[in-house]
Amino acid sequence: MTQPNERRRRAVDRLRGLLWGRHLRARPCTHRDQIRDVSPASKGCAACIELGDSWMHLRMCLICGHVGCCDNSKNRHATQHFHATGHPIIRSAEPGENWMWCYIDQVLLT
Ligand SMILES: [Zn+2]
Ligand SMILES: [Zn+2]
Ligand SMILES: [Zn+2]
Repeated sequence: MTQPNERRRRAVDRLRGLLWGRHLRARPCTHRDQIRDVSPASKGCAACIELGDSWMHLRMCLICGHVGCCDNSKNRHATQHFHATGHPIIRSAEPGENWMWCYIDQVLLT
């Protein structure tokens, strides 16, 4: 006999899968063709270095190579760069991370 908890957990998993699948289908990213073969413009967040501030994580703009700090950082320069330039897609510049994020569609790209 299956435990009630186990059954409920499976139902929740299935529901989550459906929601996530629909989410992905509903918001495809249409900006991938803007991605260029760029290399990082700086080793750290150039704007923070200029301010003498520090950052948590680095993100690189895949349209121009600008390196900015993440939204957990005080200055959020990666997001500021998007607002200033309209460049929609960033990639994590942290070692071992290769996810991308589209600011316009608010989706992770893999
Ligand atoms: Zn997009
Ligand atoms: Zn910064
Ligand atoms: Zn850019």
